[in-house]
Amino acid sequence: MKALCWQGKNQVVVNLVDDPAILDPTDMIIKVKASGICGSDLHLYDGYVPTMEKGDILGHEAFGEVVETGSEVHRFRVGDRVAVPFNISCGVCRFCKQELYSLCDRSNPNAEMAAKIYEYSPSGYFGYSHLFGGYAGGQAEYLRVPFADAIPVKIPEGVSGDDAVLLTDNFPTGYMAAENCSIREGETVVVLGAGSVGQFAVRSALLLGAGRVIVVDRFDWRLQRAAHDSVTLVNYERQKDVVQVVKDMTDGAGPDACIDAVGMEAHAGTAMGIYDSVKQTLRLETDRPTALRWAIQLCRKGGTVSIPGVYAGFIDKYPMGAFFSKGLTMRAGQTHVHKYMPRLLQMILDGKIKPAEVVSHHIRLDEAPEYYRLFRDKQNECLKAIIRF
Ligand code: NAD
Ligand code: ZN
Repeated sequence: MKALCWQGKNQVVVNLVDDPAILDPTDMIIKVKASGICGSDLHLYDGYVPTMEKGDILGHEAFGEVVETGSEVHRFRVGDRVAVPFNISCGVCRFCKQELYSLCDRSNPNAEMAAKIYEYSPSGYFGYSHLFGGYAGGQAEYLRVPFADAIPVKIPEGVSGDDAVLLTDNFPTGYMAAENCSIREGETVVVLGAGSVGQFAVRSALLLGAGRVIVVDRFDWRLQRAAHDSVTLVNYERQKDVVQVVKDMTDGAGPDACIDAVGMEAHAGTAMGIYDSVKQTLRLETDRPTALRWAIQLCRKGGTVSIPGVYAGFIDKYPMGAFFSKGLTMRAGQTHVHKYMPRLLQMILDGKIKPAEVVSHHIRLDEAPEYYRLFRDKQNECLKAIIRF
């Protein structure tokens, strides 16, 4: 089959590789119909996630059709349309039972490696380095889905491939980020980053009762995609001091919650940003936390900082004093996708949200290497590219 493979930093190619096979009776194989390119893929592309190996198949946002099931798969049959969460979860361990699917204790065969960095390993992920299991990803014609009865969700006819792909990651991620803010009716939420995750955080915050959302990014064409009566758009490159600007917009008190939908590769035109870039290049700091610092500084006293943006290791100049003195709450983590899928699918069916609105490009697999570059460089107004097969 054809698959998009990681070759090294800033290098991905379409290779011919072996088709996946059933390795375990609880596995199934899907023929991929659509697969997203995510901001998380950029961390692999840019070389910031260790333990990638040449030839690793990328992709963690797959929608497709079941073509083969193992002898112990009971919930699915050949021909079913399924959306597959990016995190792999067994469905029966202590964490899965609490719906903490991205913390599954049984799906990362390389858990010891992850525990060296994090003490305890999170779940495995599709197409996301050997640290997180070394599983082949879904930017490929076929995908092996382990624990098939536990993780995918059937997608009814009538729900588009785009909507189904967005249910595997970005929509639940924005939704969980907003839910983690414990929004009370009418509250103000700041969303840093107007990528696909930020777009869903904005829409979800409004669905969960926020009275106002302030979105911060530096690309007007991305900000515009979040335009709404209750949304204020802030281009931080046109502001001298983004923290002061948001403070002024919120009567000097600050927003009730801040969502960092940027993560470890934040851009910053400031001296602190240069400091982070140099330290990251020298591997003295693994992540560039500009957005996280802003979120902590911006937030009102007693507010919540919610972090869907991915962080991999260690950061510097963390404003712990502000965090402590203001009595903030912080919530973070990879999304427990499976927990949210049925609920969010129902919202799509009820017409409460149209996830496909964030899709900017439909591409073929052989165009994916070019679109990784365009997406990283934020060119061609590439907000969310979906590979169609
Ligand atoms: P993206 O690259 O499309 O969007 C990131 C946006 O952040 C860009 O628009 C960029 O201009 C903006 N940005 C950069 N620096 C900024 C700053 N200092 N302040 C404000 N905005 C800034 O990526 P995406 O697909 O939207 O993903 C966003 C983050 O979410 C990534 O870190 C990704 O890895 C992470 N993610 C996490 C999960 C999860 O389960 N927690 C799932 C999917 C993605
Ligand atoms: Zn993703």
